[in-house]
Amino acid sequence: MNSIQNNWFTEKSALWEGQSFSMEVKEVLFHEKSDFQDVLVMDTKTYGRVLVLDGCIQCTEKDEFSYQEMMTFVPLTCHPNPKSVLIIGGGDGGVAREVVKYPTVEKVVQCEIDAKVVEVSKKFLPFIASGFESPKLTLNIGDGLDFVSKHKNEFDVIITDSSDPIGPAESLFGEKYYKMCQEALKPGGIICSQGENMWYHSKIIRTMLDFCKTMFPKVSYGYTCIPTYPGGQIGFLLCSKNPDTKFEEPLKELSEEDVENMNLRYYNASIHRAAFILPQFAKKELLN
Ligand code: SAM
Repeated sequence: MNSIQNNWFTEKSALWEGQSFSMEVKEVLFHEKSDFQDVLVMDTKTYGRVLVLDGCIQCTEKDEFSYQEMMTFVPLTCHPNPKSVLIIGGGDGGVAREVVKYPTVEKVVQCEIDAKVVEVSKKFLPFIASGFESPKLTLNIGDGLDFVSKHKNEFDVIITDSSDPIGPAESLFGEKYYKMCQEALKPGGIICSQGENMWYHSKIIRTMLDFCKTMFPKVSYGYTCIPTYPGGQIGFLLCSKNPDTKFEEPLKELSEEDVENMNLRYYNASIHRAAFILPQFAKKELLN
């Protein structure tokens, strides 16, 4: 296994050239090529269990909640009454685990391309994959773009929890996909998508923000801090069909009690607001 040498896993990608992130491995729990990608699950010294697809870290036991909670509760709390949610990707089950907690959500539909990711997540990452057990959730195995194209006017919120735009997820970063998501949303619907890293991927992000602005009256970009993603942070791209949506100001403010009852470890209303304060270089490169 090239990415593991002398018990150290090293993550390299053309998307963050000239650098790498490493972690010490205690044990490789699973490693196989699925029909779509290389799937690796390992137990590590510092980050607990880790899922890696095509050599890129997808989630770790120690910090996954930062991403899963922000990808979920930022869009849900900006919608007045989210009842039906579509998740594209998200094969580890973490976003589903969070979405099914939200009291107004009645129906969650998910479309993940790779059944192997779901299978290994249920077996080796049950603390993340627990969302798959919810009676609110229906899981489909297939390509996200194909799936979205068959649905019109059906969802209040669409969350795209995809891997990076090299490999099976490439289509989920394109204009065609966003057009189809727009049609799959009900009036007032909201999209939240994995939005890469403002330090390394400003061109990709800028292109997406620009085409989204031609389709939606409200578009925004926020980010969360997470040690095991490149650069220690990852962004999310948000679009709303409702021109009155203010992404930086939750419509439903979760109280400390709500946060406690929902067992949230990262999200609260203050960090929601803070997530949209961008450094000057990012404001210029992404928004001006
Ligand atoms: N949070 C992670 C990140 O940002 O790296 C993503 C985690 S989640 C495991 C990503 C999932 O997207 C994977 O399970 C992958 O199989 C799925 N995926 C990739 N391309 C897809 C497609 N075209 N349609 C549906 N799911 C897709």
